[in-house]
Amino acid sequence: QARKRFGQNFLHDPGVIERIIRAINPKPDDALVEIGPGLGALTEEMLAVNPRLQVVELDRNLIPILRTKFFNYPEFRIHEADALKFDFGQLVDEKPLRIIGNLPYNISTPLIFHLLGHSGVVQDMHFMLQKEVVQRLAAVPGDNNYGRLGIMAQYFCRVQPLFEVGPGAFRPAPKVDSAIVRLVPHKTLPHPAKDYKLLQAVVRTAFSARRKTLRKALASMITVEQLNSIGINDGLRPENLGLAEYVAIADLLADSKPESHSVDEESHD
Ligand code: SAM
Repeated sequence: QARKRFGQNFLHDPGVIERIIRAINPKPDDALVEIGPGLGALTEEMLAVNPRLQVVELDRNLIPILRTKFFNYPEFRIHEADALKFDFGQLVDEKPLRIIGNLPYNISTPLIFHLLGHSGVVQDMHFMLQKEVVQRLAAVPGDNNYGRLGIMAQYFCRVQPLFEVGPGAFRPAPKVDSAIVRLVPHKTLPHPAKDYKLLQAVVRTAFSARRKTLRKALASMITVEQLNSIGINDGLRPENLGLAEYVAIADLLADSKPESHSVDEESHD
């Protein structure tokens, strides 16, 4: 019995499972981590290649099922935990992590933000997501789906949408279309911000008023003169600016930051 609260839609189409495994291309010596193994559809295929796979699963009813199913893999480790709060850094031994997950769609955005914070110890990530979330991750300025998620994901990672998966591949079938995406953390950030928290604040503020001009959307943070001083037209809208320009705004603010200037605590939205 799948539990709605945990966003459980279990993969059962062998062709789709095989296609996902081929995209991940797990190797015997990879540091593989799966989030939300569920009944183990992907887990089974990956364990066959790499018996040291580790998983993070929140639903405690699934733990004994997984233990029984994979009892013949003594190195298989199950972490019964909430992936949103899990410190993935503790799993790092020698190699950077390869993270995989058919994620629960109700928490996929906060979970991606949480994982982006671990980018420094990650080799790559493969996720099954609602198709629209994959579009947001990959969006560029001017796209309908362009916004905070895409900008922050692209700050840390190369985003590569792979293929779509219809509802029929799951039980129960979700109401939405899904897609697989690969995120590969940049070895060196293409546009490092002087103060990452400030960059987050600028992007969040801008897109909380995405229909307004930058002049209005960012009025609480920056003046028109300051915007123009770094070559940004204040009549544009938040959706017109690229990552490099958001970093330029954040860096200007970092340079002109009075001692008392503080940024709100980051929330997980
Ligand atoms: N990977 C399985 C598959 O493809 O059939 C299951 C995918 S199902 C969409 C999502 C899984 O994530 C479920 O097993 C669910 O219990 C688990 N889950 C939900 N919330 C979680 C959380 N906060 N942390 C870890 N796992 C979670």
